[in-house]
Order: sequence, then structure tokens, then C-alpha cells
Amino acid sequence: MKVVLHLTLNCNLRCKYCYAPAKRQEAMSTDTAHQAIDLAVRLGERSACVAFFGGEPLLRFDAIKELTGYAEAGARRRSLPMHFRLATNGTLFTEESLAFCRDHDILFAISLDGDEAAHDSARVQASGKGSFALVDRKLDAILEYNPHTVVTTVITPATVDRLLPSVEYMWGRGLRYIVHQLDYSHPDWTPARFERLEAGYRQLAGFYLERVRSGARFHLGLFDDKLKTHVASPFKLGEICDFGSRRVSVAPDGRIFPCVRFVSDRADAADYCIGDVEHGLSARRDELVAENRRERPQCAGCAHLGRCTNYCGCLNWQTTGALTTVPPIMCAHERMLIPIADEIGNELWSERNAHFLQKHYQEHAERFVYSFD
Ligand code: SF4
Ligand code: SF4
Repeated sequence: MKVVLHLTLNCNLRCKYCYAPAKRQEAMSTDTAHQAIDLAVRLGERSACVAFFGGEPLLRFDAIKELTGYAEAGARRRSLPMHFRLATNGTLFTEESLAFCRDHDILFAISLDGDEAAHDSARVQASGKGSFALVDRKLDAILEYNPHTVVTTVITPATVDRLLPSVEYMWGRGLRYIVHQLDYSHPDWTPARFERLEAGYRQLAGFYLERVRSGARFHLGLFDDKLKTHVASPFKLGEICDFGSRRVSVAPDGRIFPCVRFVSDRADAADYCIGDVEHGLSARRDELVAENRRERPQCAGCAHLGRCTNYCGCLNWQTTGALTTVPPIMCAHERMLIPIADEIGNELWSERNAHFLQKHYQEHAERFVYSFD
């Protein structure tokens, strides 16, 4: 079982698209965190995982240190491998916290929306000033301690024209694992902006092709994740977004939710509480798991089923208020993105590009001849 601990609702930034609850000094107590970790260890089958989340979890680095030791000891008692994750804006890293993450195998992802113009359009400090400089000056140290640092990048209507320069900037800084996500909730997605987004994706496709042909090793989730769903079997509803089967989020007050998105000030979020750390998981968890596995009514017969993000009940809820109702913007986005990814795949397949074949086909050799021709 993976438990995501919302150690604090506070943050040193004020990103414009932040879906976390309003910034406040509410923090998870040590007792609550210990009970949540006990749950991860107790319900772990082959392993357990503890993820530190916020707000900004590095505001509570002392708690992270204590909880890491507690989790390691608990896992040792059950002879269970324990994994750690940390989601951070990266601005508060110090040599000490970086060394601690390295020494305890805490894998982390930092939020970085691209170059200065892209990043500062939404990721601002309480003063309104951009936070780009705060994270940029930490990057050398971050990569020194963790060369496999993952970057999560949110695409908004304000950044559509900076997709390529942003990835070029991150590449130039040494970052090789980049995951994009669209801000589906933004009100300014117009057809014209979507056209510019598609143009940006096509530029990125050129970048991707060039880097694969040069033999570079990297992960650009935007295309790699879609290529993976082409090569491997399409996934079934509930496989990825498991809604509390194998992963849960714990709010500072100890209530358990199926995903970080439900640790929210929204009034309807309370309906998605699936237990608490004192009493464990409730029957509501099973109800929601079953609901999230239901077919999305508008998707029947679509060629993109099994490759589309429609599986994400959390994103659906965040944007439409219902787990199984896919927002039209997500549908339009998937219909635009998947063909671009497949064009990349077709091109590299027809070249029999060795790096591409190794990256995407090594473990799927039996399906080799049926793909991309
Ligand atoms: S860094 Fe994360 S938690 Fe903080 S304001 Fe930005 S999105 Fe929200
Ligand atoms: S592309 Fe649209 S219709 Fe097709 S599976 Fe995705 S959300 Fe459903």
C-alpha cells in the first residue's frame, strides 16, 4: 500500500492553478503520520510506500526525517521493502535535505513549468513575484544528488507558445525525465489556444525525434506514455487510477481519500472520504473503486479507449464533479495528442531506430511485427 501524507497545507508559493486547500498552518501530527505509516505497512503485500506531500512538504523536513526512520523500522519488522517518494516545488532543498533523500532512497519530483517566462506565468510567491530563480539556482545541486530527478510541468493557456523553449531549457540544465500535464480546469482554453497547443506539440515531436535519433536516453511522458499504451496492452479502467485500492492520500486531520485531489476545500470532497487512520478503510472505498471502473458513457466505441486519460476518476471529478464524466477538453486533448505520438512511433518504427525499439519494444518482442506498420 502506498500512503501519501499531506504533511502540511502550507506552502511558500502561491501557484495560480494550485488545487490544494487554501494555504494555512494546518499540519499533520506525528501520531497521525505514524498511524498512516502503520496502515501502509500493515496493508503492504509485497512492499509499502510512503510519499511526502503538501502543500510544500519540505517546510516540514524535520518531520520527514523522523517519519522516514519510523517507516523504515516498521517495514523492517515485517521484512517488507519500503519505498519513499517526495513531491516538492524544489525551492527549499538544502544540501542536508538532498543528502538525506539520497541516503534514504527518497525519489522525488520537482515542479518546474519550463523556462522563466513559462514558469513565472503561474508559479509565483506570496508577493506575486515569480519563483523561477528560486528553483533554477537549486538545479545543479538537485541533479548532483539525484540525476534521475523527475520534473512535472503544468501546461496552461499562457505557456502554449513556450513548450519547446521550455523543454530545451530543461534539457540544457540536465533534466531528462519530464512529465507534462494540462491544466484542464483553466477557463481560457479557446479553440485558438488549442491550435497553438497542437503546434507546440508538433515542435516537441521534432525535438523528441531528433533526441531519439541522437541516441539520448530520456523520458518525455507526453509521448512516451502514449507510445507505451500502443505497444503494451491497452489498460482497463481502474488499472492505473485505482481509487484507493493500492494508493491513498491522508489529510492532515487523518481522514483518508482516494487521491491527493480530494484533499481539498471543496464541499463535495467530503463525500469521497474513505476512512481515517484510526479506524482504517471504510466500505465507501469499495463503492468508489467499483464506480471508477464503470465505463465512461461518452466513450463507448472510441478508438482511443485504453490509451486515453479518461480513466482518471480524480481528474474527472475535479473538472466535472463526477468520476465517470470526462471533461470535453480532455477528450479533445487526447484526440489531438495520441495521433501525434503515433506519428512519432510510425516514423521511428519505419527507420527501425535502435533506441526506440529498445525503449518501447524490448519487453514486447512478440508484438513487434504488428506495430506501427
Ligand atoms: S508549490 Fe504546489 S502546493 Fe505550493 S502553491 Fe504551488 S502547486 Fe500549490
Ligand atoms: S478520446 Fe474522448 S471519447 Fe475517446 S476514450 Fe478519450 S474521452 Fe472517451
